[in-house]
Amino acid sequence: MAPRRRRHVRVSPADSARVTSLAADFEVLTALRPTGCVNGLEAPRTATESLAILEWNQVVLYPADNNTDELRYQAQVRLPAGWKYATALRAQQTLPESVRFEPTSLTTLVDSTLIAGRYFESFELGGEPAVRLHVAADGPAALHLTPTVLEHYRRLVGEAQALFGATHYRHYDFLYVLTDQIMPDGLEHHESSDNRSPYRTFLDDDVRRAEANLLAHEYAHSWNGKYRRPVGLATRNYQDPMRGELLWVYEGLTEYLGDVLAVRSGLLTTEEFQSEFGAQSGRHAKPQRAPLAQSSGHGACGPAPVRATARLGCAAAPPGGLLPRIGAVVAGGGQPDTPTLQWPPQPR
Ligand SMILES: [Zn+2]
Repeated sequence: MAPRRRRHVRVSPADSARVTSLAADFEVLTALRPTGCVNGLEAPRTATESLAILEWNQVVLYPADNNTDELRYQAQVRLPAGWKYATALRAQQTLPESVRFEPTSLTTLVDSTLIAGRYFESFELGGEPAVRLHVAADGPAALHLTPTVLEHYRRLVGEAQALFGATHYRHYDFLYVLTDQIMPDGLEHHESSDNRSPYRTFLDDDVRRAEANLLAHEYAHSWNGKYRRPVGLATRNYQDPMRGELLWVYEGLTEYLGDVLAVRSGLLTTEEFQSEFGAQSGRHAKPQRAPLAQSSGHGACGPAPVRATARLGCAAAPPGGLLPRIGAVVAGGGQPDTPTLQWPPQPR
């Protein structure tokens, strides 16, 4: 997440009864430095001459110290002529030069990044609710996904549903920008993900392999991180500090599940995964076969509180047993209708 800069606007008590609206006009600079960071901010660039990533937290103002679930917003965006866009937000009205989205909470708005671009393609990936892949690139050649790769992304949707046993979004939109001018990255959201990879991801097999688990990882976060979240990471607003003692569940379990889904969907073959994993292990540390972590903690947020305890082994993991054993489990917290993750997943 890019760092947020707080801008304070004070309305005196004497004025507050008479003030019904505030108009703010400001610019977000996304000029490039040689490091790839925006000048003056430790944030990556978010636009090129052919595409843009609009993170609403960079442009939104809100009353301090409120519960962001309770603040209602209606966003409107104007894009360059001929550009297409995608976001988890739903359009309420499409005007000649702009789009107005349905009103939503500030939480959902900030969780619904928008991408737009001159060169843009959308692909139906199936699923119920529907899942779509939207790709914006710095040139048209990068948009060519082979039928095989596209089929792997379609299988990812089915494999995730089989793994989690349910879906928990109204729809899901993979947002994918392909450019060498923005730092590769991925950011999870509940009903979408903001994914950034090199321009040649679908043109160069080495790049494709290196990026192959990105969307699977962010998709798993929709369940582990958004639908279910460690309690210390669920805050009322963007000022309350987060507590990260269960971050290993949030991130570690997702890393594991993303790899499992990437292999099961065919985005990586078992051999490709082993090769990539081995290369990474060689760079960072020796592979471990002993338990990496066992922990118990409490809490996650979502429609029903959940409790994280127990452990998880990877005996059934497909990538040839290379994965270290990781402790984890997310289980129901005593409420009869709380979903429970079984691990290892039952053979299908
Ligand atoms: Zn992650």
